[in-house]
Amino acid sequence: MLRVAVVGSGPSGVYTAQALVTQTLLPDVRVHVLDRLPCPYGLVRYGVAPDHEKIKSLQQSLRAVLEHERVTFVGNVAVGGDGVPPERLGELYDAVVYCVGAATDRPLGIPGEDLPGSHSATEFVSWYSAHPDAAADLFALRARSAVVIGVGNVAVDVARILARGADELRPTDVPQPALGVLAGSRVREVHMAGRRGPSQARFTTKELRELGSLPGARMVVDPAELALDPAYGDAGPGAPPLPALVRRNLDVLRAWASAPPRAGDSRPRTIGLRFFLRPVELLERDGRVAGVRFARTAPDGNGGVRDTGTYEEIAAGLVLRAVGYRGMPMPGLPFDAVHGTVPHRAGRVLRDGVPSPGEYVAGWIKRGPTGVIGSNRSCAKETVASLIEDAPLLAGRPSSPDPLAVLRSWGLRPVEWDGWLSIERAEATLGRSLGRGPVKIPDWPGLMGAAHGDSPA
Ligand SMILES: Cc1cc2nc3c(=O)[nH]c(=O)nc-3n(C[C@H](O)[C@H](O)[C@H](O)COP(=O)(O)OP(=O)(O)OC[C@H]3O[C@@H](n4cnc5c(N)ncnc54)[C@H](O)[C@@H]3O)c2cc1C
Repeated sequence: MLRVAVVGSGPSGVYTAQALVTQTLLPDVRVHVLDRLPCPYGLVRYGVAPDHEKIKSLQQSLRAVLEHERVTFVGNVAVGGDGVPPERLGELYDAVVYCVGAATDRPLGIPGEDLPGSHSATEFVSWYSAHPDAAADLFALRARSAVVIGVGNVAVDVARILARGADELRPTDVPQPALGVLAGSRVREVHMAGRRGPSQARFTTKELRELGSLPGARMVVDPAELALDPAYGDAGPGAPPLPALVRRNLDVLRAWASAPPRAGDSRPRTIGLRFFLRPVELLERDGRVAGVRFARTAPDGNGGVRDTGTYEEIAAGLVLRAVGYRGMPMPGLPFDAVHGTVPHRAGRVLRDGVPSPGEYVAGWIKRGPTGVIGSNRSCAKETVASLIEDAPLLAGRPSSPDPLAVLRSWGLRPVEWDGWLSIERAEATLGRSLGRGPVKIPDWPGLMGAAHGDSPA
């Protein structure tokens, strides 16, 4: 029997567990999937936007893996930092696969970034996703104008949630306090800004198009600004073909730019998509963020942009920075600070450049924050293939016959599958009491109480 700990129950952790129990070379592999949270599914629960029900429903297939007879979910157990040190965990299992993700935001590194009213997209996403580390009162949404810095899919997600009415989000599992704040939101203008042109924006067409279909929001794009992008105009015969994604995105933008205004348009909000704007400073008034100063950029002829020497300011009482994610170092594990990942070879953790038997990585902490949820499946398979190949080396390592008992003896209070099911039931009960479907519990005491069978307050 091979006992494997998978640290992290997001997509990469669950796909790792799946690959371990479905491979046939070693039929008796037992997997414990540990997570610092009492709830499984990582960013599928705490990142994917609540109004993307189809992607959210992936939780059902992840659930089937966690209910496999040789897989055990072990929530509320953190590894590293204040939690179980990796070297101690390694003594309990034949192998440990780290699937801890990379959900820390990248900073902009400009003055004013830390002003009240300036937040990372991660904080906003965590707040509307009911992550128990996010304070329920973190956002008040009293500003009329918000700037979202970044033009990727996460920027699109946060702009969309800001521009949706609370009525559209009520059928989702958005936590009740956040729904209340969204219902009273004064935000009327959402400005999304990227430093490069529309052909270099990272959003996908489906997500972009969805912005234009919101019932209460109107898209605003400036055809003259779009036209600065050499790819925007009709490239004409003989010009190199554009990648399909870029062509489709430009088609969507072109259609918005040429749409005539609707007579009597009563949509209360606007989403402005701005390009060629590089943020240089967050402006302050009365100790809070009051806007963003941007340097205008222009194509440099080599696929990049250069500053033009002119500036523009956009007033905003709320600024959300969505310029990418990065992994966090875990004490006890090697870390590549440049890429924000754990150095590895085909999933084997490298210590001083040498594979360390029994230590593996998969998912965002292995390859960085790229790709869609499905990309984590092939990533996990590669790691599991390495682990299975190493099995003869792992057999001689010390491991415990009952790691859970040892974790408990160290004072930890793991939340197992029954505890998670109990949280699910409590969220359904909470939702019913509010006349809604299941509603997420947004705080640690509530989640832990629910895991131990208490009714939600
Ligand atoms: C805001 C946002 C929206 C997204 N929307 C989509 C989408 O719509 N469609 C799509 O295909 N992809 C989407 N993605 C990408 C997708 O979520 C990722 O590809 C995927 O979640 C990465 O999986 P992971 O398992 O590596 O990391 P994660 O999903 O982050 O899982 C990591 C897990 O590890 C746990 N963990 C972390 N540290 C520790 C520790 N020290 N000890 C124990 N446990 C720990 C965490 O609690 C978490 O459960 C989105 C990403 C973000 C950030």
